[in-house]
Amino acid sequence: MIDTHAHLTALDDPDAAVGRAAESGVTRILTVGTDVEDCRSALELAERHEGVSAILGIHPHSAGNAADADLAKLRELLANPKAVAVGETGLDWYRDYAPRHDQRRVFAAQLELASELGKPVVIHTRAADDDTLTGLADFAGAVVLHCFSSPHLLPTALDRGWYVAFAGNATFPKAVDLRLAATQVPHDRILAETDSPYLAPQPVRGKPNEPANVVHTVAALGRARGDDPGELGRQIERNAAQCFGL
Ligand SMILES: [Zn+2]
Repeated sequence: MIDTHAHLTALDDPDAAVGRAAESGVTRILTVGTDVEDCRSALELAERHEGVSAILGIHPHSAGNAADADLAKLRELLANPKAVAVGETGLDWYRDYAPRHDQRRVFAAQLELASELGKPVVIHTRAADDDTLTGLADFAGAVVLHCFSSPHLLPTALDRGWYVAFAGNATFPKAVDLRLAATQVPHDRILAETDSPYLAPQPVRGKPNEPANVVHTVAALGRARGDDPGELGRQIERNAAQCFGL
């Protein structure tokens, strides 16, 4: 099984978490860097563990501090063979941690970088879905909607062949709409992730999350879709291999 989105660098002991994941059958992890420093640390982890690859980007929350020099450094880091995608990037009008014009600027720059490098882009969108879609209008590469939480984006996502990644919040009792969305995603476009250390799924909700827990999310998605969890886990691994070129 694969966890397609974890922030290993935000865990207390990332190496131990990678080991526990492997014991649970989660042998591949994509770890996400959120600024240049964090991307360097993510790459170090990826180089240390065969099953770990890195998604490198400047998170919308960090966009306010991102200068052109940071985007140039990001481009250099993305040349590492262990770097498989650009992100997470996008727009967050909910937290508004960075000025909106900076978020738009850094999002646009990363889409350009992904196009140029031929890499997929991992999208973070919160309370900004219309503007995120506008930003993606001309992007022709592979897109992953990370921590999918906006069912009304689904028709566009499916129409454009984007990947839809479900996180622990899709297992929460009230998330009936997300599980319904999960039944509508074609088998070759669905992904699962933990977003560790955030959003731990049922039945470990409320604890710090880690990649081993992706099995709970895959099980919940399997129940909703009527898929065998083991088979769905393998399908998700194939989808991730296709999307990220693993
Ligand atoms: Zn994330």
